[in-house]
Amino acid sequence: MDTKERIAKALAVATDTKVFEMGSGVSEMAPQVFRTFFPGRKAVVVADVNTWPVLGEKVFAHFVQDGIPTEKYIIDKKEFHAEWKYIEMVDKVIEGDFAGAKAIEEDENHVEADAKQAFRAPSEDHYIAVSVGSGVINDLCKLCSHHHGQQYLTLPTAASVDGYSSFGASISWQNAKQTFECPAPVAIIADIDVIAAAPKEMTAAGYADLAAKVPAGAEWMIADWMESEPIVPAAWHVLQDVLDSQLAHPEAVAAGDLAAVADLFEGLTLSGFAMQAARSSRPASCCDHLFSHILDMTHHRFRGKLQSHGFQVAIGTLTMCAAFDEFFRLDLSKIDVDACVAAWPTLEQEQERARKVFEGFPAPDLGYEMITKKYDGPETVRRQLETLRDNWLAFKEKLQGQVYPFSKMQAMMKTALAPYDPSMIGVTRAALKDMFPKVQLMRHRFNLLDLGKRAGFYDRLVEGIFRPGGAWDLQQEKS
Ligand SMILES: [Zn+2]
Repeated sequence: MDTKERIAKALAVATDTKVFEMGSGVSEMAPQVFRTFFPGRKAVVVADVNTWPVLGEKVFAHFVQDGIPTEKYIIDKKEFHAEWKYIEMVDKVIEGDFAGAKAIEEDENHVEADAKQAFRAPSEDHYIAVSVGSGVINDLCKLCSHHHGQQYLTLPTAASVDGYSSFGASISWQNAKQTFECPAPVAIIADIDVIAAAPKEMTAAGYADLAAKVPAGAEWMIADWMESEPIVPAAWHVLQDVLDSQLAHPEAVAAGDLAAVADLFEGLTLSGFAMQAARSSRPASCCDHLFSHILDMTHHRFRGKLQSHGFQVAIGTLTMCAAFDEFFRLDLSKIDVDACVAAWPTLEQEQERARKVFEGFPAPDLGYEMITKKYDGPETVRRQLETLRDNWLAFKEKLQGQVYPFSKMQAMMKTALAPYDPSMIGVTRAALKDMFPKVQLMRHRFNLLDLGKRAGFYDRLVEGIFRPGGAWDLQQEKS
C-alpha cells in the first residue's frame, strides 16, 4: 500500500477529519478547502511569532488573494504552554474581539475562568480558525472551535506531536494537565517543505511522540486483557500496523530527509486518527506520557527553557521500555492469587494513599479523583490475577512482540536526536523514580503499574529500573 492508499483508508477510520493533504506546496490549497467546508464564512489565521514568518504570512496572503474575508491573530510569545488563559484568548479571537484577546494574552495575573462555562451559541458571525503552527496553537484552535460549535482547519509547521489530528486537546486548567474532549480538525494541510525545514529538535520530538505508541500499545493490551478498556480494532490497526516501519529510519528523520519526515508526519497523523476512532487518547498514550504531564504541571524548566512535549515523552517512553524489560524478568505463572487478594487495599485506603502521594502537588486532588474512578474491588482483582497467572507465557510473548527493549529504544532515540537520558531534559534519575507513585495514580486508565500493585511486583519493577546495572542505575546519575 502506498502513502495515498494508506491515507485514504485511514480517513475512513477518522470520524472528524475529512481532508488530509500532505506534500510540497500544498498550503496553496487552503483557501479552496476552506470554501468547501465553510462557504461564506470569515477566516482568522492564528499563528505565533515563530510560525507567522514560516507559513502564516503566506497562508494569510493566499486567503486574501482568494477574496475570503480574513483576519490574523499573532501570539506575541516565543514559548508558551497550552494553558487555559490562552483558551480564553482564542475564544475571543473566534468572536472577533481581537483587543480583548490581546488583553488576556498580556495579563500576567490572569485568573482562569470556569472551563465548564466556556461554551457559546454558534453564530455565522464567528470567525473560522485557521491554525498555523505547532501542537499548542492547534490544540487552542481545536478546543475553542468546539466551544463555538464549529470546525476548523489546521496547517502544521512541524512534525512535533500527534495532536494535530487527535480527538481532544491537552490543556492545563487549574494546574492540572487534562484532555478536554473536542473534535479533530476537519482538514489537515501538511506542507512537507515547511515541516521538514522545522528546527531539528521539533522533528526529533515528534519522533519520540510516535515512539511512545510502542509501550502505550503494550499497556492498552494489558488493559484489554484485564477487561478494563477493550482494544478498538479500527483504532489499533490504523496505527499499530504501520508503527514499526515508520519508526525504522531515525537516521533519515534526523537528517531532515523529506520522505522520512513525511513518513513520520503520516505516522503522527494516523495516531490522531486512531484517537478519533477510539474517541479517547488510549491508542496514543499511557504512562509514557504521564511523566511529561508531571513536568508540565510543575512548570519544569531546563537551562531556563520549558522542555517540549516530545522531549519529555522520550524519557517517559524509555522509562516504560525499561519497566517492561523488568516485567519480562518475572515469572507470574505461579502468583499466589489468594495472598494478593488478601493484601488488596480498600478504596478508602487507596484514597488515603493518593492524598499522601499528591500532597503539595499543584493538583492535590488528582490522585484521589483518579483512584476513585479506577479502583477495582477484590473480586475483580481476583479475576484479573487469575487471567494473568493462567496466561502469563502467552501474554509475555505478545507483549514482547509489541514493546522494544530499552537498549533498542535508547539507540533509536539517540539516532533521531531525541533525548536518551533524563539528564538531557534536566531531570535526575532520583526525581524520575519519585514520579512513579504519581504516574500510577494520575490517570483513570489501567496501566502496567496498576497490574504491579495487584500482583505484588510494583516495588520490584520500579527498583529494578534504578538498580545497579538497571536502565537508569541511580549510581550512574549524570549531571
Ligand atoms: Zn503525545
